[in-house]
Amino acid sequence: MLVKKMKLVILTCYIFIQTLNIQVTNAAEIVSKKINDNFYVLLGGNGQGSHVGLSIGKDYLVLIDAMMEGASSKLIKSIRNISDKPIRYVVNTHDHFDHSGGNAFFVEMGATIISHENSQYNQPSHLLKFDSKFSLSGNTENIEVFHVDSHSSSDSIIYLKESNVILMGDVFANEWYPALFHGGILGQIKALDLALSFSNENTVIVPGHGYITNRQGIIDYKKNSILWVKRIMELHKSGMSLDQTVKDEKLIKIQMKFNTKNRNPSNLNKWFKELVKNTINVENGITM
Ligand SMILES: [Zn+2]
Repeated sequence: MLVKKMKLVILTCYIFIQTLNIQVTNAAEIVSKKINDNFYVLLGGNGQGSHVGLSIGKDYLVLIDAMMEGASSKLIKSIRNISDKPIRYVVNTHDHFDHSGGNAFFVEMGATIISHENSQYNQPSHLLKFDSKFSLSGNTENIEVFHVDSHSSSDSIIYLKESNVILMGDVFANEWYPALFHGGILGQIKALDLALSFSNENTVIVPGHGYITNRQGIIDYKKNSILWVKRIMELHKSGMSLDQTVKDEKLIKIQMKFNTKNRNPSNLNKWFKELVKNTINVENGITM
């Protein structure tokens, strides 16, 4: 069972990496986007994994996610172009390797990992686990971490009130089908609603993968996710096979709503069947 679960997790991450990083390959440097003097987003993609948040405090830095293992040397270079303060904490949005693969590198530099208690890591040292909520304060701005249950059992969303930024992890990957592989549609709605409850029209929403957006991006994604799951389950309950389901015209129309940046549809299409299957599984209680 554990092996099967691991395979599914790896498949999910692989899909994200393959699909969302296709446009540019082997970028020389990780591009950073300044949100304000104290907060940057280091953009993932290019085979490097997730986006990373960088909070610059008085005395130390906090990272939100750590990309993949192989991206660490590029990631630290990009961080050091912004600040030379020590990296004290890495908060993981969940335990998948495209977000946590760089953990060991930063632990080696003296960081402590903060992650939900369901996270499964090989190296439990320098690990601070929490159950429903965790706050980091006393450096510069408060960093609030909330456990949710949508993409994986170890999901968290991270809210920085002063910067007015929310980091969503893979609860929200806005160039991709809903990846609600643990909490199903109900878990996803709950997680998205939590983020919406913190946000206003100026809030910066950082997806795990995809492009930085605003609260309207979450509202649209929630609406489309509900349509997606509803149609798939209608077809499934009417007895349609998986092969018939993926040919359904209504579902194909809904599917294209997730191609929000008009990327080459073939990048998405090749995973369509797999993602429909995973959606049926989770709604039937089979979770990753
Ligand atoms: Zn991811």
